[in-house]
Amino acid sequence: MKHIWTIKRWKQNRRSLNTLPIEKMAGTSGELNPLRPERENDYPTPPMKSTPMLDRFVSAGKNLGLHPFRLPSANISETYENPDGETLYQCQYCGFCEKFGCEYGAKSTPNVTVIPTAKKTGNFDLRTRANVTAIHHDGKRAIGVRYVDVQTGEEFDQPADIVVLTSYTLNNTRLLLQSDIGRPYDPATGSGVIGKNYCYHITPVVTGFFKDKFNAAMGAGSLGSTLDDYNNDNFDHTNLNFIHGGSITIKQLGKRPINENAAPRDTPTWGKEFKAESIKYFNRSIPVTSQGTSLPHRNNYLSLDPTYKDSYGNPLIRLTYDFTEHDRTLHDFITEKCGEILEEMGAETVEPRELMEHFDIVPGHNDHITGGVIIGADPETSALNNYLQMWDMDNLFVIGASAFPHNGGYNPTGTVGHWHIGQQKVSSSTEKKTVH
Ligand code: SF4
Repeated sequence: MKHIWTIKRWKQNRRSLNTLPIEKMAGTSGELNPLRPERENDYPTPPMKSTPMLDRFVSAGKNLGLHPFRLPSANISETYENPDGETLYQCQYCGFCEKFGCEYGAKSTPNVTVIPTAKKTGNFDLRTRANVTAIHHDGKRAIGVRYVDVQTGEEFDQPADIVVLTSYTLNNTRLLLQSDIGRPYDPATGSGVIGKNYCYHITPVVTGFFKDKFNAAMGAGSLGSTLDDYNNDNFDHTNLNFIHGGSITIKQLGKRPINENAAPRDTPTWGKEFKAESIKYFNRSIPVTSQGTSLPHRNNYLSLDPTYKDSYGNPLIRLTYDFTEHDRTLHDFITEKCGEILEEMGAETVEPRELMEHFDIVPGHNDHITGGVIIGADPETSALNNYLQMWDMDNLFVIGASAFPHNGGYNPTGTVGHWHIGQQKVSSSTEKKTVH
């Protein structure tokens, strides 16, 4: 018999296995981080397969006295039935993963995990193509939402006893501001909370060009190895002008032609030589990257745009952001460490990517963004208590990395999922609570 997830069952599972609920739900594949050996249980599924490229990274890391390990992955290494009775299938390493849906059911996305489970309750109605444009409230409590059917243009008002806002970092902030909920952040005075603490991910990238050939066409979105030696307080910061750090990772995503045909920097950008070098290095170039901590700054924030509007006539979200000196110092330090690892891996040439002089949304934007509706211990300085409940409106929950007061040296998703699934009870008052 298939089981529907219950709080009681989750508590039993948690006691017996001491694995994070999101990992059990998602079937996370992985192995122990040698710098965090206190983990009591293995991941639900074994680590993903290694490859010659990853092996090279691991050997180089060990030669340098570092502690590499296989990246935890929500591409599943073997067929797995989660505690809700949903089956996830073994990853095929097809190479079209991180920006694509999975046709094998091997990626722990909601369509193969929580949505089928919710549907089995008989109490869940999935309304696709519904674009929520406002949260209705009476000043004290949320009373529903307004949404537009994007196919017909018809508007609906949906009453609700509880509203859970889960529309990603930027839109969570936007919908609250648009619905006149919470106090908008004002960078001039530092007052207000909605929109503050917007943080990015500082992402050093160093590309190594090798004589040896690897098979870079095969891969998976989270197939990789990583190390934590330069993250958090895992290293000596004496004489370093920054705090925190970043995880350093090699990933084998599966390279796609044209999009990822790296060639050494002095190669012409068109013509015969460009083609020859692109072909030569398609399987001989490897990036080593980092996810570096991003700390909040008073002048980095989200607000409603005074000029630009969407097709419904509602203001777009406006991002006011630039890198800080802290970001640059951290970036340069981690970049140097990525380069050392690539040299130890045997790269003939190592090319770091420079951090832009000023932040620009072009040519690409990191989607690991956080803040705007942050968690905290004080309603004066935060939007949510540690149950992700609005201080000002206790039947409105805001879920997502928008709750992070700063962005650490890892992907945000594990923490977001742990928060979402791991809350054992909710508060019925707005009394101050301690943030864990
Ligand atoms: S690589 Fe990604 S998309 Fe391909 S089978 Fe594995 S999980 Fe699915």
